Amino acid sequence: MKTTMLLAVMVMSGCAVTSHGTQPATLGTPRSTADLAAALAEPGPVELESVASADWAVERSGLLNLGNPTAKEAGLVDGDEPIQVFFHVIRHPTKGTFIVDTGVETALRDAPEKSAMSGLVRSAMHLEKLKVHQGLGEWLAKAGKLDGVFLTHLHLDHLTGMADVPEGTPVFTGPGEAKATGFMNLFVRGSTNQALEGKPALSEWQFTADATGSFEGVLDVFGDGSVWALWVPGHTPGSTAYLVRTPKGAVLLTGDASHTRWGWDHHVEPGTFTGDAVKGTESFKRLQAFGVAHPDVEVRVGHQH
Ligand SMILES: [Zn+2]
Repeated sequence: MKTTMLLAVMVMSGCAVTSHGTQPATLGTPRSTADLAAALAEPGPVELESVASADWAVERSGLLNLGNPTAKEAGLVDGDEPIQVFFHVIRHPTKGTFIVDTGVETALRDAPEKSAMSGLVRSAMHLEKLKVHQGLGEWLAKAGKLDGVFLTHLHLDHLTGMADVPEGTPVFTGPGEAKATGFMNLFVRGSTNQALEGKPALSEWQFTADATGSFEGVLDVFGDGSVWALWVPGHTPGSTAYLVRTPKGAVLLTGDASHTRWGWDHHVEPGTFTGDAVKGTESFKRLQAFGVAHPDVEVRVGHQH
């Protein structure tokens, strides 16, 4: 088959982001936003630590909708926006240690050619702009056992540390993430598969409709009201935010439903990195409304502190 024809067939048939298998998650009890709101009255038992694994820079127009009147008024133009790549550590008193997203692989600094990210992906993602502070592997060497990974979504900049996650560690993700199709997946699929090698089939959160209607779905992850998964589709079909109740209060991890601090503070939704702009804006507004209703909840956005 000629290359152009092969490409045409692949584009038309779509290419899933990974061929890694999926299974229904065994964690997560369906609840409503009203249940979540009630739980917020008390501090929680979970320690949360956000680690800026690396500094990076990407196009501002991807992170922020520069066509939004507020962004225009502020004179925002396209260009490199400094961001960070995080992982967030959840220490539950009885359930163990989990991370939200994966930061970056230690090899990306020490031996990039040995990383799960192919040379093509490293160059397309401009990983030469990446300054690694703490690779996930380095952190794990000190931290010990890891009981699971909760992903906000399946984009590569949230999987860049996955190769450092020990084989056999359960990985949780929103529904439909693995099967999400797109032309770009032709380029990232190999690296995504490589990063997930040795891990069990992806456990997909089993969201049901939020009775309160504030989110698409709400899950009580451990069934004790300490950690919550909120379905916020748009950036990707299964995009998931997490709310963690700590002794100092609740923290909302938005994932890429809101990448930037400026965007969150000025009510400007993400830009061209969002797969479905209409749904993405709706999810962004839902998170913002939640923030207004619960001003004591600390908000940590996807790529900036
Ligand atoms: Zn991201």
